[in-house]
Amino acid sequence: SDETTDIVIVGGGGAGMTAAIEAHNKGASVILVEKMPMLGGNTVRAEGGLNAAGTPYQKAAGIEDSPELHYQDTMTGGHNLNNPDLVRTLTENAAASVEFLKENGAELSEVGRAGGASVNRIHRPAGGEAAGNFIVVALKKKLQDEKIDVRLQTTATEIIKNEEGTVTGIKVKDKEGKESTIQAKAIILAAGGFGANLEMVTKYQPGLAGFSTTNHAGATGDGTTMAEQIGVKLVDMKEIQIHPTTIPGKGVLITEGVRGDGAILVNAEGKRFTNELLTRDVVSKNILAQTDKIAYIIFNDELRANLKATEVYFGMDLVKQGDTVEQLASEIGVDPAALAETVSKYSGYVADKNDADFQRPDLTLSLATGKYYAIQVTPGIHHTMGGVAINTKAEVLDTSDQIIPGLYAAGEVTGGVHGANRLGGNALADIVTYGRIAAEEAVHSLGSK
Ligand code: ADP
Repeated sequence: SDETTDIVIVGGGGAGMTAAIEAHNKGASVILVEKMPMLGGNTVRAEGGLNAAGTPYQKAAGIEDSPELHYQDTMTGGHNLNNPDLVRTLTENAAASVEFLKENGAELSEVGRAGGASVNRIHRPAGGEAAGNFIVVALKKKLQDEKIDVRLQTTATEIIKNEEGTVTGIKVKDKEGKESTIQAKAIILAAGGFGANLEMVTKYQPGLAGFSTTNHAGATGDGTTMAEQIGVKLVDMKEIQIHPTTIPGKGVLITEGVRGDGAILVNAEGKRFTNELLTRDVVSKNILAQTDKIAYIIFNDELRANLKATEVYFGMDLVKQGDTVEQLASEIGVDPAALAETVSKYSGYVADKNDADFQRPDLTLSLATGKYYAIQVTPGIHHTMGGVAINTKAEVLDTSDQIIPGLYAAGEVTGGVHGANRLGGNALADIVTYGRIAAEEAVHSLGSK
């Protein structure tokens, strides 16, 4: 049985939900298909926040920033492999994405620091809630309030392209396995990445065999694979980010905000070994060089009080504790004298505003007082930077760099925005910004059909 709509969206994570709301607001009829029993994808797991420069919240906090500086940080963080035009568009429109979220019930009013950022730029909800869940809950409510047609447990299996090379719809399978076709004037691919598909990961990065993943089970690269089958160009497929601080086997990561707010990393010998605020790839590499490829994130009660997101880790029983540094050291099997020396030396650096060992730039929190906490972490597969090639209008390109009419893409399914390494906070910026752009352009194209 065939159905027809203006715009069909594949994937109900942050990019797809944003695109659905924006397209609906602009007057298009929309169907969103999501293969899992719930919306949210990897987005719901994003804890950090959204990078944007030039927002009223930065201004209120006296932070000087600009899209240009956000651009420079993103390019540097991505080792300049990023597509510069895509990064320009991202950084010039991210502040409007914060505004979009506010209008849709997800105000990100607090601004913090994240790895690879020159200034405080990562926007998150006030009160320390995890940003991804906060956004997903708000957008889900909006989808419901607006009665937008969302179909869960409905998997897109194929993108349909006609003889002229125009994309005209998708094939889907519902939860009973029943197949049907949805014809649409425009298709927005927002099916996320492939970080939970180890076979696909190791096809592009054999060195990652055996790594655990932070991704949700639906991150299997369907969007990328379906696109490739109709001649879409794929870019940067081997660029796969490992997150430095994950909990093996649990699909959990410890948000960068913990380090950003003042936690340090120590190794099994109780010693610091890195500037904790370096980019994810470098911090990961530095942890992998330590004994057993593990590190401990060390923080105290003051940080716990400042960053409510940490309560989740306590709830999951991931945190070891001690009234003194020595007690904590015994709990985690690290030499107490060594850890005590490391912590007191670090607190001295905070007092001096100078990290003589690793030149950490942001020394805001002294660890001179307890109670003390530790979480054992190791790097895990986190984000697939590569994916389908798009231009700044979120139009999808074929292997000859020609636009494929009718096909748009946004979010982790795309490649080129993050280059060789994604900065923390740029995923939410990416999905909301390109989700909006994909919807605007798709709606715009309806006029000519
Ligand atoms: P992004 O951050 O780019 O929005 P997410 O991982 O948050 O990416 O969301 C992508 C969503 O797409 C996930 O919820 C995932 O289950 C869904 N998805 C993946 N493949 C398909 C498919 N073949 N059909 C429908 N939904 C899909």
